[in-house]
Amino acid sequence: MSERMILVLDEGTTSTRAILYTADGVRGAMAQRELTQYYPQPGWVEHDPKEIWERTLTCAREMVAHAGSADRIAAIGITNQRETVVAWDRRTGEPLSRAIVWQDRRTADRCDALRAEGHEALIQSRTGLVVDPYFSATKMRWLIENVPEIAAARDGLALGTVESWLVWKLTGGRHITDASNASRTQLMALDGAGWDAELCALFDVPQQALPAIVDNIGDFGITIPDLLGGAIPIKGLAGDQQAATIGQGCLDPGSVKATLGTGAFILASTGSSLPVSSHRLLATVLCQVNGVRHYALEGAIFVAGSLIQWLRDRLGLIAAAADTDAIARSVSDNGGVVLLPALSGLGAPYWQPAVTGSIHGLTHGTGRAHIVRAALESMAHQVHDLAAAFAADEAPWHHLRIDGGMSANDWIAQDLADMLRLPVERPADVETTARGAAMLASVGAGFYPTLAAAAAKQSPLMSFVPTLPDGVRERRLAAWQQVVADVVTSRGLAGSAAL
Ligand code: ADP
Repeated sequence: MSERMILVLDEGTTSTRAILYTADGVRGAMAQRELTQYYPQPGWVEHDPKEIWERTLTCAREMVAHAGSADRIAAIGITNQRETVVAWDRRTGEPLSRAIVWQDRRTADRCDALRAEGHEALIQSRTGLVVDPYFSATKMRWLIENVPEIAAARDGLALGTVESWLVWKLTGGRHITDASNASRTQLMALDGAGWDAELCALFDVPQQALPAIVDNIGDFGITIPDLLGGAIPIKGLAGDQQAATIGQGCLDPGSVKATLGTGAFILASTGSSLPVSSHRLLATVLCQVNGVRHYALEGAIFVAGSLIQWLRDRLGLIAAAADTDAIARSVSDNGGVVLLPALSGLGAPYWQPAVTGSIHGLTHGTGRAHIVRAALESMAHQVHDLAAAFAADEAPWHHLRIDGGMSANDWIAQDLADMLRLPVERPADVETTARGAAMLASVGAGFYPTLAAAAAKQSPLMSFVPTLPDGVRERRLAAWQQVVADVVTSRGLAGSAAL
């Protein structure tokens, strides 16, 4: 038994991957395929559900072949880009349109209307989410209203997030979603077992099209034998950020992780107590095991690594993301430059979609390295503001675990420790999202009795401790806060100046 492996399907925004894990939680081989990004109009982002399925299947087949055969795989764990909506026909199993991706802003007007009609307080208190096009409900409604095939499907319509779509295809028709993904739709109350009838009516989404809400660990069906050369049970499901939190072992209340990828997502476990934010953070389901929910408070930063890509691809200031570490070290400070990285608006805690990015403090003395350094510094500045919002919500951080592509940058890791005045820890294996899905499936497969037992196999941590003199830190924060106050507070966001 112990020689059998776990197969993780990690379906992300830019690529889909299949990864093998041993029963001991050691990461093995990986197959990966890019996903086509469709931008049919400004603010619109779409994926092809057929491509998601076919490329996921291709990767899974490669990994089953690598393992030897399907019976070498004890269980599958799935983790996925959250909020993205797929619509398909129950009778044919074929998609009825492209998927609307989480970044898509096409329902901004609908969200404005919901706010103007006074629904935000109810939505926020019941779901823990702010009213924003980011979440699934308004995307589902848009599909029903605007795609004739979807309206025509009637009882044959199936709606779901990406893990639902993959489970349907893998099992040949099981329609489920796990509680962590369901908590991002705006159609489930944080403490409600099923879909919320009042929210479904408010967003005008037919409940019969939605999947059944299930635990994050369980028996979620077996794969159609022809697909992978044998029937493999699906035992774990979770949205990517919840999976990363589990993969970092941040299970106990107060433990917090930051995934620094294209965007940055910070989740602090609150255990079994329902988080309530009065500082525009999100409350979300971390996981549901044996019907018992654990929760997390979440802050989403929309621009993190994508700023480094912008420096490389648009400005041509750097040749490769990894060069930024040495460039930042080549100057003693930012030379007075402050960069507001609002390339796609500002997420938590500001929620200002219309704010644009800007670079402040330029002089004849400003060089490339100052701008690169200011860009890297903006990561810690944004995370600092989130830390203040978490503390104001009575969820202070005592340390921070980081992962994601940007966390490989030692300069950023040290800067986070300095600006947060907290120890920052980075696991040797930063693939925490897949690791979390592997842990869920491992518990489901009986390799471990609990997630805590699976988390004990955590890879070694590297620690960064604060060393920056307080005066330097205070001056940097003051300059950043001045920029935020000028740009954000002038647009009428109450409270941001206090952050
Ligand atoms: P995602 O899962 O969101 O696709 P990843 O976790 O793979 O993202 O991280 C990729 C991002 O990290 C890219 O935007 C890239 O610019 C950034 N990145 C990768 N390596 C570094 C580095 N050494 N320093 C700074 N940023 C980096």
